Amino acid sequence: MTAPAAQARDTPGRAAAPQQVAGLLVVDAENVRARYECYRPGCPQRREGPVFGPAVQAFVTEIKGQHMAAYHGEPR
Ligand SMILES: [Zn+2]
Repeated sequence: MTAPAAQARDTPGRAAAPQQVAGLLVVDAENVRARYECYRPGCPQRREGPVFGPAVQAFVTEIKGQHMAAYHGEPR
């Protein structure tokens, strides 16, 4: 079958936008917990956490940078 439908907006190679969403930080204020889910292709550690209570604040502040540095080779 041919596919005459609209072309997918799929950018080959490196994406140009540095601010694209590559992960999701989930914070549950009621139960005081947080976790981070990474959406980057090929990520070896798709989920970080969850952490609870007093650890949440530091986790929220640090996790994205830590994760990127540890698994995607990006500076904080
Ligand atoms: Zn990742």
